[in-house]
Amino acid sequence: MLAQTDNSKIPRECCTICKRVLKADKFKPFCSKRCADVDLGRWLKGSYAIPTDERPSDVTDDEF
Ligand SMILES: [Zn+2]
Repeated sequence: MLAQTDNSKIPRECCTICKRVLKADKFKPFCSKRCADVDLGRWLKGSYAIPTDERPSDVTDDEF
């Protein structure tokens, strides 16, 4: 029974950045360190973009 409709499954492992077929496992799931850095950069930018409404609870108002 093949009821799975998972499009994320790809026949070959491809780089998540440039979609090239991986030739080595060294930088999995990326084809090279360059693509790994690209992904890391995106991830960091994304984390920076998240608005932080929460204030650090450790800060006290004693100085005011
Ligand atoms: Zn790549």
